[in-house]
Amino acid sequence: MTASLTGPRGGAAGTDDVTGPVRDFVTTEIAPYADEWDQDERLPPKLLIRMAELGLWAPFLPTGSGGSDMTWSTLGRVHEEIGRGCSSVRSFLTVHTMVTWTVHRWGTEEQRERWLPRLAAGDLLGAFCLTEPDSGSDASAAGTVAEPTGSGWVINGEKKWMTAGQVAGLLLVFCRTARGMSAFLVPAGTPGVEVTPLTGVMGTRASMLAGIVLRDVRVGPDALIGPPGWAAGTVMTGALDLGRYSVACGSVGIVQACLDACVAYTSRRTVRDGRLSELQLIRRKVSDMVVGSRAARLLCAEAGRLKDADDPATIMATWVAKYQASTAATAAASDAVQIHGANGFSAQYPVARLYRDAKVAEIIEGSTELQQLTIASEAYREVAR
Ligand SMILES: Cc1cc2nc3c(=O)[nH]c(=O)nc-3n(C[C@H](O)[C@H](O)[C@H](O)COP(=O)(O)OP(=O)(O)OC[C@H]3O[C@@H](n4cnc5c(N)ncnc54)[C@H](O)[C@@H]3O)c2cc1C
Repeated sequence: MTASLTGPRGGAAGTDDVTGPVRDFVTTEIAPYADEWDQDERLPPKLLIRMAELGLWAPFLPTGSGGSDMTWSTLGRVHEEIGRGCSSVRSFLTVHTMVTWTVHRWGTEEQRERWLPRLAAGDLLGAFCLTEPDSGSDASAAGTVAEPTGSGWVINGEKKWMTAGQVAGLLLVFCRTARGMSAFLVPAGTPGVEVTPLTGVMGTRASMLAGIVLRDVRVGPDALIGPPGWAAGTVMTGALDLGRYSVACGSVGIVQACLDACVAYTSRRTVRDGRLSELQLIRRKVSDMVVGSRAARLLCAEAGRLKDADDPATIMATWVAKYQASTAATAAASDAVQIHGANGFSAQYPVARLYRDAKVAEIIEGSTELQQLTIASEAYREVAR
């Protein structure tokens, strides 16, 4: 058994010391293989086990629940590092964090005892099942329905685009009930759950996406998180905020990876008699990456600090961080491909994958357009106050 990166030997809980060991892990065990996983459209089981050994699945949980009391600030730096190496791995962590935090924050004592030890250990992976074929940004249009039976609930509907859906053991499924949107914990092996892999996607190709059909899926009363109709204002808002934070931090990692790749490439590639690195137009792009990564990292740090302080202002800070970080990532990745020329188009260099992965960050956990609308609305609200 390897020492946990997030335990005492890997850095004191709640401090940033942990990011050094995580950086080494990403540099040696994730980044060199990310293109291979992208082409295979899957993450190897041994990586998922290794992450469990290193305590990376749910370090934000209290020590008594299998975590290491990691602060949100530090978790953000960890997700940045993982995002630097491979956005598919970061995607797995994002949805697992959303599901695990939901159980910890809003689950009953019984639900926590039943699910948290395995979620914390990474024996059981979570999938966050909100989006449907006909509803995405507007989650209130979701058509999956849960109806009460004498002994629990019966769920019918279809979910699409579930990250880690091919391997997740526990599904957090959002359904309509007579009282409004509700969240249910559904073991993936429950009769009536049908999982279909989604392949051939543009980015985060190793994130093992799935479509999930639920046909007369029967669950007990203990599957429901909170009272019926309670999920929209609490679970959805809270879990999506954490997902947004993770994606923002992962996007900083993408900008950093673009910067690292471009500095290395332009330092050795020659055109005419000089190196690419000597050309001013190349340097301008590199400087944009430096500024983009630093600005996004600071915004993520602000969002993390507010989370650690339990300050509700973190919600808006996270929207701002995710907007800046994800758009900086797509800009940096586009420039990185340009700087690499034809090589940027090939699978021999990581920038083609970074370009495809960056785009996903502008779509998930609140698209760029929704962020623009939300951030502007807040500006008008502040003026009106
Ligand atoms: C790789 C990947 C992984 C994903 N993983 C998950 C997952 O694990 N769990 C999950 O539940 N979902 C997941 N999703 C789905 C994701 O959350 C949705 O794609 C996202 O919410 C956007 O919804 P949509 O794709 O239906 O786009 P739509 O909502 O149809 O939007 C289409 C376009 O219209 C714009 N738009 C929408 N509303 C407005 C508005 N009011 N004003 C202006 N413009 C607007 C959007 O910004 C977008 O550009 C994943 C998606 C991808 C691509």
